[in-house]
Amino acid sequence: MPTRSILRVAVPAPLYTCFDYLPPEGVDPTTLPYGIRLRVPFGRGERIGVLVEKVATSSFKKDSLKPATAALDREPLLTSEDLKLLLWAAAYYQHPPGEVIAAALPVRLRKGEKPVKPEIAGWQLTSAGKTAQPTHAPQQLKIIQTLTEQPEGISQQVLYALCGNCRPVLRTLEKKGWVEPCEIKPQHILTTPDKTKLTLNAAQIDAISAVSTRMPGFNAFLLNGITGSGKTEVYLRLIEEAVAANRQVLVLVPEIALTPQLMQRFQCRINSPIALLHSGLSDREREKAWLAASQGEASVILGTRSAIFTPAPRLGLIIIDEEHDLSFKQQDGFRYSARDLAIVRAQRQGFPILLGSATPSLESLHNAATRRYKNLELPERAGDAKPPKIDLLDIRSAPLNGGLSPALLKLLEKELAAGNQVLLFLNRRGYAPVITCYHCGWLSECPRCDARMTLHLGTNLLWCHHCGHQRRTHRHCPECNSEDLHPLGQGTERLEEVLSQRFPDQPIARIDRDSTRRKGALEKILDEIHSGHYRILLGTQMLAKGHHFPDVTLVGILDVDQGLFGADYRAAERMAQLVEQVAGRAGRANKPGRVLIQTRHPDHPLLQTLVHQGYNAFAQVCLDERRDAQLPPFSYQALLRAESPSAEKSIRFLEDAAEQAKTFNAAGVEFWGPVPAPMERRAGRLRAHLLIQANHRSILHKLLSQWIPALSKLKSSRSVRWSIDVDPQEML
Ligand code: ADP
Ligand code: ZN
Ligand code: ZN
Repeated sequence: MPTRSILRVAVPAPLYTCFDYLPPEGVDPTTLPYGIRLRVPFGRGERIGVLVEKVATSSFKKDSLKPATAALDREPLLTSEDLKLLLWAAAYYQHPPGEVIAAALPVRLRKGEKPVKPEIAGWQLTSAGKTAQPTHAPQQLKIIQTLTEQPEGISQQVLYALCGNCRPVLRTLEKKGWVEPCEIKPQHILTTPDKTKLTLNAAQIDAISAVSTRMPGFNAFLLNGITGSGKTEVYLRLIEEAVAANRQVLVLVPEIALTPQLMQRFQCRINSPIALLHSGLSDREREKAWLAASQGEASVILGTRSAIFTPAPRLGLIIIDEEHDLSFKQQDGFRYSARDLAIVRAQRQGFPILLGSATPSLESLHNAATRRYKNLELPERAGDAKPPKIDLLDIRSAPLNGGLSPALLKLLEKELAAGNQVLLFLNRRGYAPVITCYHCGWLSECPRCDARMTLHLGTNLLWCHHCGHQRRTHRHCPECNSEDLHPLGQGTERLEEVLSQRFPDQPIARIDRDSTRRKGALEKILDEIHSGHYRILLGTQMLAKGHHFPDVTLVGILDVDQGLFGADYRAAERMAQLVEQVAGRAGRANKPGRVLIQTRHPDHPLLQTLVHQGYNAFAQVCLDERRDAQLPPFSYQALLRAESPSAEKSIRFLEDAAEQAKTFNAAGVEFWGPVPAPMERRAGRLRAHLLIQANHRSILHKLLSQWIPALSKLKSSRSVRWSIDVDPQEML
């Protein structure tokens, strides 16, 4: 007689619990493995849940339990290990378990549909294609040639990496009957073997052997290597090693769209199927890749944040590139940190994890200093490249033109005359951050936020970057009807305009979210940068991330001052990371690089430390400050946010919440607030914060686990939207 005949099911619903069901009519519960999907009655309808446990007794009476409607899978979609990690994450981040587990599944599977065939989709030549006389269209020729070299076919993603995004050309060739889709089998995967394998330097060899001699088994490593020091090469060697040992490797990167070069390097080096998981794929493509990973067919899983939950039965190594990047933390809904969960996953499942960055987060540096992580350093640039020379440029009395000081302009001219590439960084898209009326002083404020509307001349719109509100630009001042309206401040559009007037013969590449909105636009600009078409590159932080521009000799950072006085105690850390990353684009090959940072605060001690002693010294100063102030990583925080159309209601809920917390065991926990959020009004709602802090993680989490599920019992909770953010990264 089976005793564990009650099914505990994670059902997507905003409740902090799983739900108990009886097995579907006539189904023997012993035939139901954990990790399958079940269709269950829920409220008045039905939902798709996942079986997480079988138990003998329920806290509900057995005759009040309903049977599940149907089991949807024979084979589990998630293993017990996967489920445990997800439930752990749900508990840690205080998010409903059913929602967490549903979010880990590909979209169609969440809705109860049948899994597609796991496959790595590819292309091959048809027999007609093998003898075809291709036209003179260069992309067609390139595709035919690439496929000729790979008679077993080539994965679509590899093909894109090698030939650019060539979907339309492929379709033309398919219509001609020369190429056809095919499935790539592991034994058939052939990538172009790297013809020029580099000779590693001593630091790279040390880093690689530190990890590989400790494989398998859990260890966390911080690869602290300056920009261009050859971190990616270290990743590639370790991946090759793990794959040769028949293990899968999970590689997380901040944003795949921004790193086509990285993808290309992977595709060309790893002689095994790679599953790509990122938001640029269709649901079906994602699902195929997910299944290829979960069924062990893909050796390498390369993805963004959410790929951390991809099942991988042979997983043996996780690599997090640019581990400091904010995008590893989800900022809404289930607010998890993929980096932190990766550590937990590696620890629970017993394999190494490598966190790499040129500008490690203060958390990771602290973990390395306290020996929780093993510190690996690549202190020098790889090959013959030298680190750039960084200087501050005092602009307090300089007349700026489009944000450029005369001194910076002069250097620009010099580099351009010498035929070099220059890069200008301005972290603000649009034409100008605000327009004003010279007659009455009116400013273009967002009607729904405590923020200003940015002028976008390209689309002739005023646009709020916080809530998305848009309107046509004004002809007349809405206050005094004067026509004396003027843009104030600088954005990338304006910088582009000024530069094109100044250097009419130089094509300019602008990279920001506006200029790269169309699919494939970013790849196109990057290709043209590499081919040497552009001498002037300008953009927002999209330009800072991981690109390798070998010809850039001068980098100008137009404005760092915001980062020095931000409302958030992390502002300085973010500023330094951005500066260091942007600066790292200079002098990456055999030409020396120079970096100039324009500032109105050249004597600021943090800037001085950063420029003269480097990021690690800067980070040490910041860490000392954090220790003195008992801020993370020397304490642990959670942020309870509330928003509603009324400021009082938001505050009242948080006051009630703080009162309620004290009815649980809150000894050792401090409550700061409630206070209005730094940007109080956003999208028409008034927002407030209650910060919760403790010196020990366990004390904080003990309180949260009792308190957060009880919040919805507060009457005042009904008139607000609230959310809890554990280990918050942004206080906005
Ligand atoms: P990072 O990831 O640290 O920014 P990369 O791995 O991209 O650095 O390396 C920067 C450049 O140096 C690349 O062009 C890479 O091919 C080259 N490189 C890496 N390791 C070596 C080495 N041992 N010898 C010569 N060049 C190297
Ligand atoms: Zn006016
Ligand atoms: Zn707004």
